Amino acid sequence: MCVIVDANVASLLFRREPDCDFLPVFQWLQDPRRDGCLVFGGQLAEELRRVRGGRGYLLQLNRAGRARRIPDAEVGSEERCVLGTGLCRSDDPHIIALARASGARTLCSHDHSLHVDFKNLRLISKPKGKVYQSRTHSGLLTHTTSCGLLRGRR
Ligand SMILES: [Zn+2]
Repeated sequence: MCVIVDANVASLLFRREPDCDFLPVFQWLQDPRRDGCLVFGGQLAEELRRVRGGRGYLLQLNRAGRARRIPDAEVGSEERCVLGTGLCRSDDPHIIALARASGARTLCSHDHSLHVDFKNLRLISKPKGKVYQSRTHSGLLTHTTSCGLLRGRR
């Protein structure tokens, strides 16, 4: 699954020496022998650019072909659907919308109400959303059928 990085943990990843819990994410995105991909777009694109080092990091990933931007309009219309369900407990419907629009199913975040929404099968399914919080979760750094980047399958 492509990864979505919430603005609340971006500063742990977007630096020369990432936090040890986010080093696996950093390596998955940087290592040329691996196939990590960061997904962003809509309100999250703005939020990530405001994080120190965010603008440069996104640019670098983009140049390396390791970032995928979902058009704001797509995220926005999905966000209206998400809000329409009335199921969102967090104040981050734009992140749920990004997962639905992109097919990404791994989220890096420390926001517990967002974790609940991200794992809610009525909001995100096929497959279920997973939350990465520490280096013990490095097994979550893979692609899924939903994101279209699964190796050897389209
Ligand atoms: Zn993927």
